[in-house]
This record gives sequence, structure tokens and C-alpha cells, in this order.
Amino acid sequence: MPAKIIDGRAVAASVRENCKHRVRLLEALSRPPGLAVIMVGDDPASAVYVRNKMRACDEVGIRSQRILYPDTVTEAEVIACIDALGRDDSVNGILVQLPLPKHFNLEKILGAINSEKDVDGFHLYNVGGLVIGNTVFPPCTPYGVMRLLEHEGIEVAGRNAVVVGASNIVGKPMALMLMRQEATVSVCHAKTRKLREYTEMADILVVAAGCPNLITGEMIKRGAVVIDVGINRLADGRLVGDCDFESVRSRASYITPVPGGVGPMTVTMLLVNTISSAERARQRLLQQSSEHAHFV
Ligand code: NAD
Repeated sequence: MPAKIIDGRAVAASVRENCKHRVRLLEALSRPPGLAVIMVGDDPASAVYVRNKMRACDEVGIRSQRILYPDTVTEAEVIACIDALGRDDSVNGILVQLPLPKHFNLEKILGAINSEKDVDGFHLYNVGGLVIGNTVFPPCTPYGVMRLLEHEGIEVAGRNAVVVGASNIVGKPMALMLMRQEATVSVCHAKTRKLREYTEMADILVVAAGCPNLITGEMIKRGAVVIDVGINRLADGRLVGDCDFESVRSRASYITPVPGGVGPMTVTMLLVNTISSAERARQRLLQQSSEHAHFV
């Protein structure tokens, strides 16, 4: 029997319904959550991603603002803006759209983000939290993958998970999240020899390499769960993942399509992180005022 196709759009829609409810509650108690997105330069793909994020915010009632800079802007100007947003109580999430122009020091920019508002989860504080299993803001794409696995009732503990791709934004945090849920995790990358020896072992295979058709049906175990994170635009304009969909589907038990799999979850988990940030900010405020009342 061919694999069940995991409908990322449907799961994302149900998570967003829950987001609306949480936003309404926050609004009734104080104010809606706020997200600020900083974009440097005019990369068309980044512009589309930013527009999609802002549209998703609108849909659930999060207030969003976009701050656009030409790529001639200095690092100091961007950092001053990040600092000001970090102090602004109406902003709960700060996101710097990547990639940044080459002359920027990425670590310095990400390090300037107030770690309590780091909704992408790329600040070193949050990366460290992920490593020790005390995650504050899980990075959105792997967080979305974990939600899909949970939604489908797929057991993670004790299973062999293989992650193909080892980037800071997808592969590495993905491996850490799977490890946190007690999978036995292998991480493969461009220098891995005999990739197939690893992929064949996987009960859960997550592919995030950015190479169309990297994984074919004969490379996977029968009954494996295959999560295709890749997004590749072919010369004929088609959007495909990293897996040869039909051959993988014929052997897998579950598979995510591209488009319509992991993609819709990524933006959705950004909304979840922004709302969680606003809820935590409110908790901190309540705690401070009760401590103050106790003191006086
Ligand atoms: P990246 O280029 O930063 O990292 C790619 C990783 O894959 C590297 O670790 C590299 O060593 C590895 N790799 C490359 N070729 C390989 C090969 N032939 N065999 C094994 N490993 C190989 O990319 P990224 O930012 O991690 O993104 C990966 C893919 O996921 C891209 O297609 C990207 O568009 C997509 N993506 C999708 C979403 C989403 O929401 N669905 C989000 C982020 C990234």
C-alpha cells in the first residue's frame, strides 16, 4: 500500500485555529502579540517569505511590522533597531530575515536579538537551550516537523531517525529535537560516504539537503516515515522536494508532499512562538506585580 500523505496544510490550519483562540485571550487581557520582521536588501525570495509571514500574522490577529533596509545599511544601524525592538513591550517577536548581505556578521546580528523575543530560535542562548533540552523557542521548521509527527501519532522514542542535512536552521536542531524525544539519531551531510547505508536504517527519515531526487525508493526501509523538508525550483518551474516522491511513496508508510507538507508548518510555528512569547511576557509582568505588591 502506498504511504499516507501527511497534509501539512490541514495540520497547519488546525494549529492556526488554536493560535486565533490564544490571541483573542491575550487581547482580552492586555493586547495582541506583536512581531517585527527586519529585512535587508531586496532579494525577491526573501520578500515573498516576509509577505507570507505577515499575512499569516494577520490571519490569526498578531500585529506585525516590517522594517525594510537597503543593503547599504550599516550593521550598527540594524543593531540599533534590534535593540529598540528588544525594549519595546508591544513587540514579542523579532525576526531578521535570512540570508543577510555578505558584509553582515550573522552571529553579531542574531546575538543582538533579545533572547526572550528570539522567535526564530537562532540566538546562541536558545541554541544552547535546545542542546540541553530546555527549549524556549524551538526553530520553526524542525518544530513544525515534530508537530506533524505528533499529529499523525508517530512514535519517536526508541526509533532510528536519520536526518539528511546538517544546517544550523534545519538539520542540526531537527536532530536535537528527535534526540530529545529519545530517538537514536544519525546526521548525514554532503560529505557523508554511502548515504544509502544510513537512509536504509531509518524508521524516520528527515531530508533537508536542497537536492531534488536525492532520496529514491530503494534507499529507504519499507514502512519508513519520510519527511521531505527540501524546497527546490526546477528549470521547468515546478516546486519539488528532495525525494523522488512516487518511488519513495511506494515503500514508505507516511510521506510529506512538496508543496503542502512541511512548508505551511514553518510559518505556523513562527506564529506559535510569537504567541508563546507574548504569554510568557504577560506571566513575567504578573509575577513582577505580585512580587511588588508583596513587598509594599
Ligand atoms: P543548507 O544549504 O544550509 O544546508 C544543506 C545541508 O544539506 C548541508 O548540511 C549539506 O551538507 C547537506 N547536503 C547537501 N547536499 C547533500 C547531499 N548530496 N547529500 C547529503 N547531504 C547533503 O540548507 P537549509 O537551509 O538547511 O535547507 C535545506 C533545504 O530545506 C532547502 O531545500 C531549503 O529550501 C529547504 N527548507 C525548507 C523549509 C520549509 O519550511 N519547508 C525551511 C527551511 C529550508
